[in-house]
Amino acid sequence: MQFIKKYWLYASILIAVIAVIITYAVKPALFDFILKPSQRTIYERNFNDNPEKLKRWNNLLSIASKDQVTINESTAERVVTTSQKPFTAGYLINLQLGEVLMSTVDSQDSWILEARDLDGDLLQDAQLQNDSLILNYKSDKNIKVRIILQAKLETESTTDFKIYTLPQYNFPVAGKDNTAIQSFWGASRGGGSRSHEGNDIFASKGHPVVAITYGTISSIRNRGLGGKQVWVKDYDNGYLHYYAHLDDWIVNEGDMVWSGDTLGYVGNTGNAKNTPPHLHFGIYKNGSAVDPKPFIWKTQVPANAISLPQLINPRANGFAANLRTEPSSSSDILQDLKTAPVTIIGNTGNWYHVRTSAGLSGYMHKSVLVEQ
Ligand SMILES: [Zn+2]
Repeated sequence: MQFIKKYWLYASILIAVIAVIITYAVKPALFDFILKPSQRTIYERNFNDNPEKLKRWNNLLSIASKDQVTINESTAERVVTTSQKPFTAGYLINLQLGEVLMSTVDSQDSWILEARDLDGDLLQDAQLQNDSLILNYKSDKNIKVRIILQAKLETESTTDFKIYTLPQYNFPVAGKDNTAIQSFWGASRGGGSRSHEGNDIFASKGHPVVAITYGTISSIRNRGLGGKQVWVKDYDNGYLHYYAHLDDWIVNEGDMVWSGDTLGYVGNTGNAKNTPPHLHFGIYKNGSAVDPKPFIWKTQVPANAISLPQLINPRANGFAANLRTEPSSSSDILQDLKTAPVTIIGNTGNWYHVRTSAGLSGYMHKSVLVEQ
């Protein structure tokens, strides 16, 4: 009897497992809410019956994965895709600890937008929000990221594309901005005996010092170099925020605070007693100080690019027609294209983003491109 019961149990489990496998094979989308596949994986289901198309699609990804185009801080491009020449491009950007990488593209139906590491592994892909695809990625270390923008096959679109960063937190001194930071990470301290493990943000004595995110007051002290100091724990991200040289505080240990709540006031307590009042602001991760600047440095979202004239059968004009890594004449030269034909895939400022027939992508100033 015992044996028969067990037999039925195993048989039922086996049947259930087979049913799940068959359902997954026939209709994988039913499992998306558990497996959370990437936007690329979902799109590739369209090629289930068309291996040739899948191959073409994957080739376009490998081309973008070799691109050496580099973004210095931010870019706004107007990008073009056609069914004949589907857009594909990679953009390298150095992301610092504390920055949030943002990338957006309009006309959401036509694009796949991803952040990948240099091994090609997917870090994050863009999700649809208010009719735009929005990528939002932060790392727990400094990292070089390759953003991949790839148009879905057989779409036609000219649209705005942006890459930029945002600080992870708000600014710690009310109403002030980057210009108030007048001493940075790594500056010499104590006659060269130590290095500055924070940012000094100058404001008049009594100016409000505010929480940069929500968190809990983990300790309040009045001692040592920092003088009157408040420590806030950001449990979400595991960081401790250090606010020092305060004239006074108005919070208690254990209080919960929200971004913008006043913690205390700018002063010159501790070893700042002979310097003008300022907030020494620091961030600690696992007991070690990290550079707080990228966490609070205010950035601007770049304005949309303005379209440059469309060129029919464009080619390099033969006069120092350099293909460059950035839209800047001081950036690295990838190749002198002489009089080679190119495909224009986008533009930013006075620069065209082009791809050569050999698959190399970069920027060319509008003055070095002509029609054939
Ligand atoms: Zn300082």
